[in-house]
Amino acid sequence: MFPSQQRKLYTVSPAVKCSINRSFQLTQRRSFVAKATDCLPAYADYTDSQLTVREAIAKICLNFPDSYWLNIDNTATWPTEFQQAIAKAGWLGIMMPSQYGGSELGLAEATIMMQTIAESGGGYTASSCVHMNIFGLAPVVKYGSEEQKARFLPPLIEGRERACFAVTEPNTGLDTLKLQSLATRDGDEYVLKGSKIWTSTAQVAEKILILVRTTPLEEVKKPSEGLTLFYTDLDRSQVSVTEIKKMGRAAVDTNSLYFDGWRVPVTDRIGNEGDGFKMIMHGMNAERILIAGEAIGLGIAAIRHAARYARERVVFGRPIGQNQGIAHPLAKAWCELESTRLMTMQAAKMWDEGFATGEYANACKYLAGEHAFTACETAVCSMGGMGYAKEYHVERFLREVIIPRLAPVSREMILNYISEKVLDLPRSY
Ligand SMILES: Cc1cc2nc3c(=O)[nH]c(=O)nc-3n(C[C@H](O)[C@H](O)[C@H](O)COP(=O)(O)OP(=O)(O)OC[C@H]3O[C@@H](n4cnc5c(N)ncnc54)[C@H](O)[C@@H]3O)c2cc1C
Repeated sequence: MFPSQQRKLYTVSPAVKCSINRSFQLTQRRSFVAKATDCLPAYADYTDSQLTVREAIAKICLNFPDSYWLNIDNTATWPTEFQQAIAKAGWLGIMMPSQYGGSELGLAEATIMMQTIAESGGGYTASSCVHMNIFGLAPVVKYGSEEQKARFLPPLIEGRERACFAVTEPNTGLDTLKLQSLATRDGDEYVLKGSKIWTSTAQVAEKILILVRTTPLEEVKKPSEGLTLFYTDLDRSQVSVTEIKKMGRAAVDTNSLYFDGWRVPVTDRIGNEGDGFKMIMHGMNAERILIAGEAIGLGIAAIRHAARYARERVVFGRPIGQNQGIAHPLAKAWCELESTRLMTMQAAKMWDEGFATGEYANACKYLAGEHAFTACETAVCSMGGMGYAKEYHVERFLREVIIPRLAPVSREMILNYISEKVLDLPRSY
């Protein structure tokens, strides 16, 4: 028997309830190539609570058309209005405990939320600006004290505070257990010294969840020991934050952090000293499943744009979509995304029911990254020159879709995991 976890799948916070307008019916049949502003189609496999989430999120996204996201990307502007709209309707707390204002829905509902946001045309920019709120504070929910939860969760759920997540370090990359940033206890405070890289949203975040060593690597029995987690103010008078210019998702920043003598109160330490790695691992599989949902949404948005264009663009006296050379790659992309979506929903369901999901979470994240990339590339190529024009949106999706192939874990490391844990092959690193 696998352990099972009790979850209140149908509890919806008052704010979320207000945002659900039953006159908005997604359940009716809609064309796949309908514009996002005409609402998004529902899926036959959804439960009632999942349909409710799909409908309510799609309804919010109607107010943020493709032109909004194009402008946000061109001007590298944080999407404040969108993030606030999601917060105001109560969705930032979709997986948070109801006693702190959350909805206590499952990972399946949260994955649908993130797919819908990306699929609406907001792509990875839109999903990334709310992503951290959905999964990031899982260690605080599970391991934080009551006092910490009451202090940290409501401002995040209400959208009054934003959080960033700092694990990756410049010198150690994917070899997380070798991270070197150090926290030294000094009375009621810790003093942090070190650096982080690729910390997304640190330009705007008020809070940071950060993993550092409290015992140097040379002094621990196992590398997973001696790591400690803090959730604290991102105090820019003590931390230097420098943006990394990157290929896509310009509106959601990514940064290098440097700190030497950053004083953090002991009261901001989550759980016991030295237990940080276990806590970070708690949220990892959930994050991979959410990322899969986001990548699938991005891929679907791309082929939706391309299919609509292929029906309307006439060359040689017929729509370009009448040529199988254009139609079949788009159809293949849909098949790949849909099969990955079904696996992702299965992985989310298993996680919600308390099953071990390592291989499913990794596999769906891998497949979603690969198939979403193919879908975006196919969309650009299907649209000829216009696929390369910013005003047709798919070039933005192609630049963004590289991210779920690289982060939070790379394709290669996922295949290493499957090789070792599923196929029982010797560990290669
Ligand atoms: C846009 C973006 C946003 C990000 N946001 C965050 C964030 O908010 N917080 C955070 O902490 N991190 C974040 N990251 C970091 C991200 O998780 C890392 O980039 C990722 O984990 C890879 O680490 P690295 O870049 O140092 O690659 P490296 O560890 O240097 O690896 C480089 C390449 O070598 C391959 N490789 C390494 N070792 C092996 C091996 N043994 N077998 C096979 N292949 C191997 C990797 O797969 C990869 O392709 C973000 C990254 C990006 C690009």
